Amino acid sequence: MSVLAEIWQAAKSIVVGHAVTWRSTTRPPVTVNYPDERPDLPKGYRGIPVLKTNLETGQLNCTACGLCARSCPVNVIEVVEETDENGKRLRRPKVFNIDMSRCMVCNLCVEACPFDALEMANHFEIADYSVPNLIFNKEQLAEIWKQYDAVRLAGGEKP
Ligand code: SF4
Ligand code: SF4
Repeated sequence: MSVLAEIWQAAKSIVVGHAVTWRSTTRPPVTVNYPDERPDLPKGYRGIPVLKTNLETGQLNCTACGLCARSCPVNVIEVVEETDENGKRLRRPKVFNIDMSRCMVCNLCVEACPFDALEMANHFEIADYSVPNLIFNKEQLAEIWKQYDAVRLAGGEKP
């Protein structure tokens, strides 16, 4: 390539580059200044998995069957069924923990649950300086379900 052609190519690429930059500066931003500005979550946004409560009885729907724990690809669900003093199974969780520090928000646990006891809430602000604080117990999971809209049914509304 001749020197003149090279100069022409360089000048052209400078003009094209500036045109791209100029176009970008005049477009409306696609980001928000979080956390000062809140993101406008789309309907159906999927956050963390949480435990559903029967609003009439106040009890968890969970029967501690353990299917969600077995279906979780990263093994972050711990379920221990409650028993009475004779060892009889009570079909409710004594322990139900989800380690949100490793949850992939994949929804597979929700799909696996035969008792409609899990749901993805549109909650995502769970950052913490301590990893153990990200292991949410059944009370925390149920409380989040009450506070946040769920996304599995009715496109973002609680059923
Ligand atoms: S959403 Fe996925 S990764 Fe998270 S607990 Fe459920 S199955 Fe496991
Ligand atoms: S949440 Fe559902 S799948 Fe998991 S233990 Fe409870 S009833 Fe079983």
